[in-house]
This record gives sequence, structure tokens and C-alpha cells, in this order.
Amino acid sequence: MDEGQARQETAAQRPARFRRAVVTGGAGFLGSHLCTALLEQGTEVCCVDDFCTGRPENTAHLSGRPGFTLIPADVTEPFEVPGEVDLVLHFASPASPADYLRLPLHTLDTGSLGTRNALQLARRHRARFVLASTSEAYGDPQQHPQSETYWGHVNPVGPRSVYDEAKRFAEALTCAEAEAHGTDTGIVRLFNTYGPRMRGHDGRAVPTFIRQALAGAPLTVTGDGRQTRSLAYVDDTVRGILAMAASDLRGPVNIGNPDEITMIELARKVIGLTGSSSVISFIERPADDPAVRCPDITLARGKLQWEPRIDADDGLARTIAWFREHAPAGDGGGDG
Ligand code: NAD
Repeated sequence: MDEGQARQETAAQRPARFRRAVVTGGAGFLGSHLCTALLEQGTEVCCVDDFCTGRPENTAHLSGRPGFTLIPADVTEPFEVPGEVDLVLHFASPASPADYLRLPLHTLDTGSLGTRNALQLARRHRARFVLASTSEAYGDPQQHPQSETYWGHVNPVGPRSVYDEAKRFAEALTCAEAEAHGTDTGIVRLFNTYGPRMRGHDGRAVPTFIRQALAGAPLTVTGDGRQTRSLAYVDDTVRGILAMAASDLRGPVNIGNPDEITMIELARKVIGLTGSSSVISFIERPADDPAVRCPDITLARGKLQWEPRIDADDGLARTIAWFREHAPAGDGGGDG
């Protein structure tokens, strides 16, 4: 039997839905939405988090719910969870520039040692493993839009390298694990995702603009604001990740919204949707900030039958509604 046949059997032998999943980084923004979505589809969830950027409040709505366990642990140390597991979603990692610049060594350790420990957990349990990689693996791209075959343009010693290179190493480790031990692995390259439970001060454009607009403060656009991002609403991204988990694809597979928007357009949209009287002010652009970012999602469309459904106006309105309710002063849930 060749490897392709073996992999097809792995997927065919899998039950229609996973019985029990480990979500590393489950108390973070994306992880907490994944925990909720898994529980809703009938999968038990064990969330493992060290709270370096996540918050217990993010999973407070799940505590006491049957099938949900929260384990405080740093995945850079070997870890085990009680009971059987058939899916490991490895999402632990600081993700916003403000966080990984504050935690550079922890970010590198989490991408390397943490990924190794999460892979070993999956191997011990013969579980499907999915790595949360990132569009940052493409760096400041010279191919546009970015398809999975593009190798990227990353400065290995620039300030962002602690994140970009940690994720590139994590991808290499994941591929090597599959080759060396036959572990059933997949890699998703996630593009910018936004939605409820982001922290107003995490430094990413959407929560920053919403916090500033709700506070009536100037919206700080970096550079001339013509740099683009492709923004996916969290429900779309979570659906894509779960489709990848249920598949037998190794990837990497891009998951993102190909609707590109400039930062100045985004700032104007947030002002319009919040009804704010804020003005826009321009500040210095960070080093190695990518000029463009847009996923080619041909692979996800073809192999996962996935594409985003929620447009920017709808997703931003939902996110603004959450910020109004949870952080009326615009602090995005109180991270200071
Ligand atoms: P987040 O900071 O909200 O969540 C990350 C979580 O990981 C936090 O709860 C944090 O406490 C936890 N964590 C970090 N290091 C850990 C460690 N060593 N041990 C245990 N827990 C640890 O960030 P997010 O936006 O939810 O991102 C989640 C994952 O998705 C990250 O791996 C990130 O690289 C990836 N990703 C996110 C985006 C996005 O737009 N949100 C885009 C690309 C990739």
C-alpha cells in the first residue's frame, strides 16, 4: 500500500465527527471560537493555555459545560491530557505584533518546542494534528495574491522574524513528523482574522480602529494607509479550520478572505459603521510591515469546498456590536 492509500484510509476510518479534541491556545481569540464550535458539533474539548496572551474570560461561557476541560499549561514543556484524544489543534502562539515583540523568545519556543510537544501528543494518541500557521510565512510577499506554492520573502533577522520564522520552523517540523512517524498532520496558513474577543490593545488594525472610534480618539493609520490586508471574519476562518481538520490534506492550505482592503479604507469603514466623529491620523509604519496581503484560496475552494461567506460590512458590524457590549469605553475587554 502506498502512502497516498494509507492516508485515504486514515480519513475514511475517522468517525464523522471527532470525539475529543485538544486545542492549544484555546483561551485566545481564535482558540476560544474553535472550542465553542467543536463543542457545538458534539466534540469534547480540552483547552490547554498558559494565558500569556489569552484570557480565562474567553472560555468562561464554556466552564461547567459537559465535555469541556481547561488545563493551564505552557506547551513549551512536554504535556499530557487525561483521556483519549483524536484531534489536536495547535493554536498556541502569541499572534499580534505587539504580543510577539513583547514575548520574542517565548514566541520562538512556542513555535519550536511547543509544536514538537503538541505533535508528540498527537503521535501518542494517533490523533489528527492541525497546525495554525500564518500568512506571515509569506513575509513581505513578492507574489500577489499568495498561493501555497510561493516560498515567501521573510527577513530572518528583522523584528517580525520571531513570529514568521517560528511558524516556518513549525511547518517544517510538522512535515518532518508526518514523514518520520506517519502522524496524520495538516497545516493551515491563516490570513488576518477578526471578530469578537479580540483585545482592543492587541495592536491589530481592526480592534485598534474600533477601540479608537468608540472612544472618539483619532484612528491611527500607519504609513500612507495604502498597504492592504485581507480580513476574514472569525466564523469563516473557524469553518475553514474545521474543514481542514476533517480532511486528510497535509497542506499547507490558505484560509483567508481574498477581498483586499487598504488600511485607510478600513479606517473609514469603521468610522462609518460606528457613527464616530473620530478623525484619521497617520503614524510611522513598523519595520518589515508587508505592503500587500491577499490569499489565493483556489486550493481551499477545490479541496475543502470552503470559501468565506461574511463580507467586511457584516463582520465589522458584528465585531463593533461586541465591543460596544463588552468594552463600552473601547478597551476591548480590559487588557489595559
Ligand atoms: P491569541 O494571542 O488571542 O491566542 C493565542 C493563545 O495561545 C493565547 O490564549 C495564549 O495565551 C496561548 N499561548 C501562547 N503561547 C503559549 C504556550 N507556550 N503555551 C500555552 N498557551 C500559549 O492569538 P490568535 O489571534 O487567537 O491566534 C491563534 C493562533 O492562530 C496563533 O497560533 C496564530 O499564530 C494563528 N494565526 C492567527 C491569525 C489571526 O488573524 N488571528 C492569523 C494567522 C495565524
